Amino acid sequence: MTLRLHNTLTGRKEDFEPLEAGHVRMYTCGPTVWNYAHVGNLRAFLFYDLVRRHLRVSGYRVTHVMNLTDIDDRILDQAMHARTTIEEYVKPYAQAFFEDMAALRAERAEHYPRATEHIPEMVDMISSLIEHEYAYIADGDVYFRIDSFPRYGELSHLDRAGLKAGVRVATDKYEKESVSDFALWKRSHPEDEEIGASWDAPFGKGRPGWHIECSAMSKRYLGDTLDIHAGGIDLMFPHHENEIAQSEAANHKTFARVWLHSEHLSDATGEKMSKSAGGFTTLRDLVAAGHDPLAVRMFLIANAHYRSRVRLSPEALHAAAEQVRRLREFAERLDRTTPAGEDDHALARRTAEVRAGYRDALDDDLNLPQGVGLVFDHLREANAALDAGRVGPLNKDALRALLSDVDAHLDVIRAEEPGLAEEVERLIAERETARRERDFARADRIREDLKSRGIALEDSKDGVRWRRLRPAERS
Ligand SMILES: [Zn+2]
Repeated sequence: MTLRLHNTLTGRKEDFEPLEAGHVRMYTCGPTVWNYAHVGNLRAFLFYDLVRRHLRVSGYRVTHVMNLTDIDDRILDQAMHARTTIEEYVKPYAQAFFEDMAALRAERAEHYPRATEHIPEMVDMISSLIEHEYAYIADGDVYFRIDSFPRYGELSHLDRAGLKAGVRVATDKYEKESVSDFALWKRSHPEDEEIGASWDAPFGKGRPGWHIECSAMSKRYLGDTLDIHAGGIDLMFPHHENEIAQSEAANHKTFARVWLHSEHLSDATGEKMSKSAGGFTTLRDLVAAGHDPLAVRMFLIANAHYRSRVRLSPEALHAAAEQVRRLREFAERLDRTTPAGEDDHALARRTAEVRAGYRDALDDDLNLPQGVGLVFDHLREANAALDAGRVGPLNKDALRALLSDVDAHLDVIRAEEPGLAEEVERLIAERETARRERDFARADRIREDLKSRGIALEDSKDGVRWRRLRPAERS
């Protein structure tokens, strides 16, 4: 089966083929680092990770870009309040984002561009839009003229007449030709300068709007046309609609060939989780309540298909933790087992069917929950075969291969990064040597180095032991 993905643009599942053979260019909207990411955000970020992993499993090289929005009205307000610069204000939240991603075992993207580091690219794009009359200056702000882009609304399938008549898209207070025109650039106020949130541009001092970031940064790293653009469903309108308008008006090329959108996560009451609505939960909150980040990962990617809503609850997290435990226990049991003299042919056939079924489920618009369901059903049969001593050498290899197929997406079975234990043990031995030689500075450096990688050392009467720091313990 070939990989099929549901493209929001056409509303259908389509065979996926990148523009350049063997290489996928993917852009995904990242966090606004004004605060900690909430679990709803994390669901979208882990969805990106699933797409990325399955593309790699399918044999593609992936260039994945995920932006960090480090300029935004909320960031300006908070920095002003805290009497600091926006750069200082966002630092801990940007770091927390990377820590959360590591704790959740999201693979690293190839690029994490920050908006404030790509202002010249945004200024260039805005200049070109003004020059070709897709944009205009009003009272120091620059707006995109939606009337100049007839395809506006195609992604979200919205009615342009309705949009014009009523919906107020932006909350900007200044003079616009039409209520739905959106800001590309916002003029500076005197206090913006002090917090480092003001840049020079031919059309006046100011700062970029949110939407132009993604258009300018995706072009910088991936070119005019992306194979895949992904985001949470709440970004489809107006954010993604605006990205398309800006990029296609500026580049005269298709912006993104496939659009993928992941659904909301709702809180215990069934309401969409969002920061503006108040009650949001972070990974830190869940870890503090005793949940394992890997159970959170399992829940967010495997509990429901990415295009279905899912509700966060302690019960669902406990069920996910139990799934992780069962997978690990099976993997360990399999490793310990001495194979029987002969293989069980029925088991071999079933294992091969489940491997194929798992792959088909993933190829069918990333249906991980269905694939994982097949695997859990099969574990019952495999455990029974282990009980009966019917697992032969080829059976064992095939079951191992099945687990490794599954863990290519789930990544919850392996205990630690490969080679990590050996490296930590080596550093512990080095530290012991340093201490014996009374080189305490060096011993402390090794401990600090390990801590920065999320490893804590504990001296006990049996020697030095190490453990992973929980996210809340990292500082
Ligand atoms: Zn974006």
